[in-house]
Amino acid sequence: MKTGLISLFTNETELSADVELLLRQKLTSRGYKVTEGYDEEAELLICIGGDGAFLRTMHRCDFPETPIVGINTGHLGFFQEVWPEDFDTFIEDYEHENYTIQKLGTVMGIATTADGTTNTHIGLNEIAITGSKSYTIHFDLSIGDKPIERFSGDGILVATSAGSTAYNYSVGGSIVDPRLNLLQVTPLAPMNTTAFRSFTSSIMLPSDLTLGIVPEESDKTIYITNDGIENEYDNLKEIKVSISDKSVNLIRFSDYDFWSKVKDKFL
Ligand code: NAP
Repeated sequence: MKTGLISLFTNETELSADVELLLRQKLTSRGYKVTEGYDEEAELLICIGGDGAFLRTMHRCDFPETPIVGINTGHLGFFQEVWPEDFDTFIEDYEHENYTIQKLGTVMGIATTADGTTNTHIGLNEIAITGSKSYTIHFDLSIGDKPIERFSGDGILVATSAGSTAYNYSVGGSIVDPRLNLLQVTPLAPMNTTAFRSFTSSIMLPSDLTLGIVPEESDKTIYITNDGIENEYDNLKEIKVSISDKSVNLIRFSDYDFWSKVKDKFL
C-alpha cells in the first residue's frame, strides 16, 4: 500500500552514510517521508550496505512482508540491487511499478535442549550446526523421520537457495537458482573412512521434508549459527530443520539476472 513512508537502514561505513544523505534528499524532494529504522506503515524498506547489512536488516525487522530494495555499497551484492549512481532510474522505476517481487524463503531450526526448552532460529542464507574447538562431531541424521546416516565431521550446513552462493558455496555446495524452493544440506568436512561413513556431497530436500539432527553426546558444546548469528548450546538434545513460513519480498528491476550475478562473482 502506498503510504508515502519509506524506512531506511544503513550500515556503518562512510560511503553508506554519504549515499544515505543523497538518497534522503532525493526521496524527500519527491514528497516521501523517510524514517530511520522499521516502521510498520512504510510502503518500502531500503537497505544501504552489502549483503551482510541486508541480512542484519531482515533479522532486525523479523523478516517483514513490506517490499525491500537493497542499495549496494558493499561488494558484488546478491541481495543488493541498485548502485548509488542509478538512484534516479530506481525512483522512476519504483514509482511506475516497473519491477517484480522476488520472494525469498527462509530456513528454520527448532532446537530442543535436554531440559525440554525449545528455541527457534531463522536464516535467510543458512543455518550451520557445528561443534567447538575442532572436535569431531557425531550426529544421527534423519530425513522426514527416517534415519539416514550417522554423520561425523565438523558439522552440517542447511542453506536456502538464496544462501547457496554464500557459506554453502565456499564449502563445496551447489549454486541453486533462488526460484527453487528447497533446502540444501551440505556437510562440513565430512569423515568418510572405514570407521565413519558420511555423505560427502550436498543433498537437496524438497520443501515438505524436515531434517532431524540428534547429537550423539548432548553434553558437548554445539553452535547453531543462523546467517552468522552464533547461538551456543551445552545441552542440545535435537534440532529439526525445515523451510519456515517467513519470507522476504525483494524488489527486482528489469536488468536483474541471478545467473549474470553468479558469473560476475565466481567466473
Ligand atoms: P562476513 O563474514 O562479514 O561476510 C560474509 C560474505 O558473504 C560477505 O562478502 C557477504 O557479501 C557475502 N554474502 C552474504 N550473503 C551472501 C549471499 N547470499 N550470496 C553471496 N554472498 C553473500 O559475514 P556477514 O556479512 O555477517 O554475513 C553473514 C554470512 O556470512 C552468513 O550467512 C554466511 O553465509 C557467510 N559466511 C561465509 C563464510 C565463508 O564463505 N567461508 C564463512 C562464514 C560466514 P557483502 O560483502 O556484500 O556483505
